Amino acid sequence: MAGRKIEITGIVQGVGFRPFVFNLASRYQLKGWVKNTSKGVIIEVDGENTVVDAFLRDLSSSPPPLAHIDHITSQEISPNGYTTFQIIESESIAGEFVPLSPDIAICDDCRREMFDPSNPRYRYPFINCTNCGPRFTILRDIPYDRPATTMADFPLCTYCKGEYNDPANRRFHAQPVACPTCGPHIWLEVDQKEIASHEGALQQARQMLKEGKVLAIKGLGGFHLACDACNEQAVQTLRERKRRTDKPFAVMVFDAAHAERYGEFSAAELALLESKEKPIVLVQKKRQNRLSGLVAPGNERVGIMLPYTPLHLLLLEPEFDFPEVLVMTSANLSEEPIAYTNTDAVARLSEIADGFLMHNREIHVRIDDSVITEFQGKAYFARRARGFAPQPVLLPAPAPTLLAVGAELKNTFCLSKDRYAFLSHHIGDLQNAETLQSFEEAIQHYENIFRVKPQALACDLHPDYLSSQYAQGRARRQELPLFKIQHHHAHLAACLADHDYRAGQPVIGAIFDGTGFGTDGAIWGGEFFVGNYAGFERAFHLAYVPQPGGDTATRTPAKMALAHLWSANLPWMDAIAPCQHLTEEEKNVLRRQLEQSINTPLTSSMGRFFDAASALIGVRQTINYEAQAAIELEAICTPDEQGTYPFSIHDDILDPAPLWSAMLQDVQMGLSKERMAAKFHHAITDMVVEISKTIRQERAINTVVLSGGVWQNKVLLTHSVACLEKAGFTVLWHQHIPTNDGGVALGQIMIAMHSMTKIK
Ligand code: ZN
Ligand code: ZN
Ligand code: FE
Repeated sequence: MAGRKIEITGIVQGVGFRPFVFNLASRYQLKGWVKNTSKGVIIEVDGENTVVDAFLRDLSSSPPPLAHIDHITSQEISPNGYTTFQIIESESIAGEFVPLSPDIAICDDCRREMFDPSNPRYRYPFINCTNCGPRFTILRDIPYDRPATTMADFPLCTYCKGEYNDPANRRFHAQPVACPTCGPHIWLEVDQKEIASHEGALQQARQMLKEGKVLAIKGLGGFHLACDACNEQAVQTLRERKRRTDKPFAVMVFDAAHAERYGEFSAAELALLESKEKPIVLVQKKRQNRLSGLVAPGNERVGIMLPYTPLHLLLLEPEFDFPEVLVMTSANLSEEPIAYTNTDAVARLSEIADGFLMHNREIHVRIDDSVITEFQGKAYFARRARGFAPQPVLLPAPAPTLLAVGAELKNTFCLSKDRYAFLSHHIGDLQNAETLQSFEEAIQHYENIFRVKPQALACDLHPDYLSSQYAQGRARRQELPLFKIQHHHAHLAACLADHDYRAGQPVIGAIFDGTGFGTDGAIWGGEFFVGNYAGFERAFHLAYVPQPGGDTATRTPAKMALAHLWSANLPWMDAIAPCQHLTEEEKNVLRRQLEQSINTPLTSSMGRFFDAASALIGVRQTINYEAQAAIELEAICTPDEQGTYPFSIHDDILDPAPLWSAMLQDVQMGLSKERMAAKFHHAITDMVVEISKTIRQERAINTVVLSGGVWQNKVLLTHSVACLEKAGFTVLWHQHIPTNDGGVALGQIMIAMHSMTKIK
């Protein structure tokens, strides 16, 4: 008989880990205890050494489905003479922390119970168990126990308590456990009056949606705005009230069979749709479908998700005569953060929603739905939030404790501590006071639950970003070092970290992006770097063109097209689409602006380059959401076209003049938009391959990193990866974090960390 002390770190809390240990220990007849601490899980047992070893093997080889073990240590101690095995009280250790589980969609067992009339939780909208339900969104503090969550407000009834304390039960120590007797409930509110509750609330909510009304529905990480996605008038009303002209809405359907009525799913896409994280999956629209054209106008793709809370399932249950597909979009006014408290929702959404389907389980952390596409069988992130955050990225070596505040659009921030980088959920565009406040609150919350006190800060080189200003202010107040990091260098480093790249040798980075402050003060974005965490060299870049009106040019691709033609010394023929779109007066002003360099910062942006092409080809002249011109250009590419357009290269400059001149000829000859769009995409790929080969020849580097927002373009990504691999390159694209600015904070952490510790 010997004693053993076992310490486990990783995602081991809120995922049924202690019950799992309890059952395993019982199976091996080991005596002792298990407890949560703010560092992880600690076990002490008495038993034969061989038995304890077998217990340990099982422990690490088959943990519960949501658990993620990072590290196990086992140390021999003298036996304590335990007579039972117990789960004992959690312990808070000052300064220690543990990675936390994201929120997980309702599991199959709970779903079965919820639709079983003999079950006490029959049709109960808050059913959950150790394998599913809310986690991160209800957590106020660590260790993760019920009193530290928003479920503290609901004392367990005898029935729930029985399950909670029964080691054989699948709700053994499930912190959010609840039932109709003791747990939260739902109600429907119209004009700030409750008009129905429980099942009645569901019935009336369905009725309102059927009548074309807009409902605000409280979910897991915030409210959604919902309406019948097949009802043109309802979708139109929602667009008008939400002030969102064309930006696509996501939809929700009951199950995969229903999803296939609206989208074309590959097996891999179906698997992602049905995964336990239940993200919004962007898929090809079904050619014949009943969705209103206003759900995703100008888009070949549509974002579809499945119900992830019991409430969503009850609402969409096909038993009822009810719209089978709902628009489910984040409840906010244009770019504000998602509403998440009942009072906040009523205050901000009363002009948008005709009714509120409410509940009284408080959301502590607001978090949006994640958005992905499938690439080569795996998730490719557009937005990383619910279901994924705050799962950390594992670092190659223990890191200094840092905070990186990210960029401005699609902001996320990142904290590093020990072997972890905690990349936050999607915060949003830091361009209004509400989002800035949500950013500051989230930083405070993450620093608290992960017990982080940053020793240094990192921010973008752009002095005007609100995130940079926050970091500057804080660095000054707290006397902390501040690392200012070039935007595209951060993109490169983010992709390296995403691959756990440790080789240290520089790579080729094709960093294609909308915007980013360059070291020369220009707006960069069409960049070929040679670099790594330690630094970068700008090997090639897209030729500078004036960006008329600075940031405002992003809203008018027509002006970008003419600026590009002007830079290439090509004429503004009346017949081309951008000239047709702009008035004579506007064109005269623009020409004067360009000739006299009035408010025309220089840019090498690949995003603006796509905008210009989209306008010249006649796809889009003005936009009302980010990247709309490029998205619509991508959408029309025909796979039949093999042609391309030429670039010329002088020194380190990629000059697109020959491309524009060839494209103008195609326009004059009346070549179809679909063919020109495809030729343009091929031209970018050809250029990427050619430049990569040039760099390989000169420096013997064979790895190409693809990062930056432009790589959300699937046509470009697919084609470029294929051609680069064919040319013998190792290609790294993003795997776990977004290729857009949602990944920048991780890159900032890596670069700052390298400057401090020289980790390769
Ligand atoms: Zn469950
Ligand atoms: Zn109960
Ligand atoms: Fe970027």
